[in-house]
Amino acid sequence: MLGKFDFSPTGRARVVLLTALGTLFCIAVAFAVDCYVHGGWGPTPSNNLVIPLLLAPPFFYYLLSKLRELAIAHRELLALASTDPLTSCLNRRSFQVLVEGYLDHVARHEAMAGALLVLDVDHFKRVNDQFGHDNGDEALKLIATEIKGAIRGVDLVARIGGEEFSVFLPDVDPPGALGIAERIRAAVSAADFRPRDKRYQLAVSIGGATFDRPITFIELYRSADQRLYRAKSSGRNRVILDLSDVPVLPKLVTVTADS
Ligand code: GH3
Ligand code: MG
Ligand code: MG
Repeated sequence: MLGKFDFSPTGRARVVLLTALGTLFCIAVAFAVDCYVHGGWGPTPSNNLVIPLLLAPPFFYYLLSKLRELAIAHRELLALASTDPLTSCLNRRSFQVLVEGYLDHVARHEAMAGALLVLDVDHFKRVNDQFGHDNGDEALKLIATEIKGAIRGVDLVARIGGEEFSVFLPDVDPPGALGIAERIRAAVSAADFRPRDKRYQLAVSIGGATFDRPITFIELYRSADQRLYRAKSSGRNRVILDLSDVPVLPKLVTVTADS
């Protein structure tokens, strides 16, 4: 029943509840002071009820509404500061903070495993050159959507540079990480990108690093980035993860960036 009311700092129910509690508190104080001054009920005890009831609700309601507006503005500012405006993915800084927080946390626990993927769009400059920067932006948004659709609810996705993304996969073993990375690659390659009504196949190369021991974000990122470099130099549109030294791809799809 109470669950449908929002008592968080940004909720209106909190304003109403605290206004009521504040008013009751003022009434109680009025009666207490009256009793203390007069050694019992004063000449007009009803004033202890009427005056707080007239003054306290507007005062508390106004004050708490302003605090709620501040909380909403704070939440929006936080979202703005932590996300990339084009794709709504996390930005690089907030992604790193969140991943480092996770790695610090799990370092103190026995069971830990996960993976970091670094993705770079293949031949993205050609998209801009052939279809213009606006279509390039649309491609980045579509790629972000495809990535989000291919990962789990607990995974984090960030745009860490111009046409580079990163995905953090907590609680996943190497085959699981490989499966998700391959799902992302396949989803981007099947994305329906139609700049100027012309189907254009997008592609990403993915490097990944898994961990099952305490590790820093920098180490993880460096390993994943090295594998991304190998994925690029060995043909693009593929995944390379640490459990294999060769590109892991069931069926190589030809890059058709300039088709
Ligand atoms: P590779 O396969 O080797 O990664 O080739 P590439 O063309 O993707 O890589 P390169 O680094 O040569 O070019 C990246 C391009 O991404 C150049 C830059 O203009 C474009 N880019 C970066 N940020 C944005 C953006 O926000 N919007 C658009 N439309 N383009 C961007
Ligand atoms: Mg790049
Ligand atoms: Mg690129």
